[in-house]
Amino acid sequence: MNLQFLGAAGTVTGSRFLLDAGGKRILIDCGMFQGLKQLRLRNWRPFPVDPGSIDEVVLTHAHLDHSGYLPALVRDGFRGRIHCSAPTADLAAILLRDAGFLQEEDAHYARRKGFSKHDPPKPLYTVEDAERAIRRLQAVRGTTFEVGPVQGRLIPAGHILGACSVRLELKGRSVLFSGDLGREHDLLIPGPGRNPGADTIVMESTYGDRRHGPQDPLESLAEIIRRTVDRGGLVLVAAFAVGRAQAVMWAVHQLRQQGRIPEVPVYLNSPMADAVTHLYDDHVPWHRLSLDECHDLFRSARFVRSVEESKALNQKQEPMIVISASGMLTGGRVVHHLAAWAGDARNTILLPGYQAAGTRGAHLASGADQVKVHGRYIAVRAEVVKLDVLSAHADADELLAWLKSAEQPPAKVWLVHGEPEASDTLRLRIRDDLGIDAEVAEDRGETSI
Ligand SMILES: [Zn+2]
Repeated sequence: MNLQFLGAAGTVTGSRFLLDAGGKRILIDCGMFQGLKQLRLRNWRPFPVDPGSIDEVVLTHAHLDHSGYLPALVRDGFRGRIHCSAPTADLAAILLRDAGFLQEEDAHYARRKGFSKHDPPKPLYTVEDAERAIRRLQAVRGTTFEVGPVQGRLIPAGHILGACSVRLELKGRSVLFSGDLGREHDLLIPGPGRNPGADTIVMESTYGDRRHGPQDPLESLAEIIRRTVDRGGLVLVAAFAVGRAQAVMWAVHQLRQQGRIPEVPVYLNSPMADAVTHLYDDHVPWHRLSLDECHDLFRSARFVRSVEESKALNQKQEPMIVISASGMLTGGRVVHHLAAWAGDARNTILLPGYQAAGTRGAHLASGADQVKVHGRYIAVRAEVVKLDVLSAHADADELLAWLKSAEQPPAKVWLVHGEPEASDTLRLRIRDDLGIDAEVAEDRGETSI
C-alpha cells in the first residue's frame, strides 16, 4: 500500500490522504484549506492528482476542512462513491450546499466591488457542483464497506455527529485514519472509545501540545454567563454550526434547568445550525440525548430565521445569549453581531472552538484590541473568552490515551491535522512515553505501508 499526504500536513485544515492499495486509489477525506491566506489560495490550485484517477472517497466527518473540496473534485472528474456514516451524509449535504452558496455569493461580491484575480470573478465551486457531490455520498450500512479487495470499517470517533475513524485493510496489512477525535466526556457525543488498532495510524494532533484543564465545562460556562449578565451585558457565542452550537445550546439548557444562570433569552442565529439541530432527531444512536431531550434542545433557544430578524437582534443591548456561526468568525451572521457588540465592555465574546491561525477568531483569542470587519476596524472592548473545555477535540492526554488503548501498538504513527508545534510535541510524547515510532507528516510526503 502506498500513502500520500495531500493536505492537513503541517496545518490543521485541508485533510486529504491518498491510499493506493490492491489496484484501487482511495482518497480519505477531501477537505478545504481554511485560515491563513496562503492556505486558502491552495484551494484554487489543481488537485495534486487527476480526480478522475481516484476510485472512491471515504469521509471521516462532515466538517468542511474534511469535506469542503468534494464539489471541486467531482466537477474535475471524480466519478466514484463517497463512503461515510449516515449522519455524515446528512450533515455533509447541508454543509456543502451552504459552501457552494457562499462561494457564489463571494464571487458576486467581488464582482460588485471590482476586486478579484479572476475576470469575471469565479466561485471556487457552485451550488450545482455541490449537488453533484452530494449525490455521490453513500451512507455505509452497518460499519463495513469494500473498495475492491480493500476492507473498510468506520469506527465512531466522538467529535461531532457521525464522525468516525476509518480503518482500511488489505491482505492482513492495515491502516487507521483517526479523523478528528472527540472528548470522552463531551456533553452530546460519546467519546471515541477504544482504538481499534492497525499497523499504521494516521492521527490528528490539533491539541497535541495542550491540556484542556480539569474545569467542569458547565460551571465554566455558568461563571461567564453570570458575570456578563451581572454587568448588564450579553454573551455572543461564536460556534461551529455543526457540533459546538448544539453543545452550547444543551449546556445552557441544563444550566437554566438547574437554576445556575439567570433567566435571559437564548437565541440561535444560524440557519445552518438550525437545520443541523433538527438532524439530532434522526440519528439518536449517535449521540447522548433521548428523543425527548432532542425536543428539549430544539425548544431551548429562539431560532432566528430571516435576515431582518438577525438585523433586529443587532439593535438589542440587553442581557441575553446569542449563539451564532461561523465558529472562527470568518463569515456568517456572527460577524455582524461582532461589529454591533464588540465595542461594549459589558459584553462577552465566547469562543468555544478551535481557532485556526489567521482567522478573526484567532486574532480575538490572542487579545487583539481591534478587528477588521467588512473593511473597517472595530474596537474590541468586550471580554473575550476562549473556552477549551467545551472543545470537540481531544487534548494531548486524551490523544495519547486513545493511542495507548489499542490492543496491539502500531508499528508507526503519522501525525497530521496540527500546527507544526502541536504535532511535534505529540510526536515526542508518543516516542518517549509510549515507545512508538512517530513522525510528523510532510505535505506531499509519501510512504509505503
Ligand atoms: Zn472536525
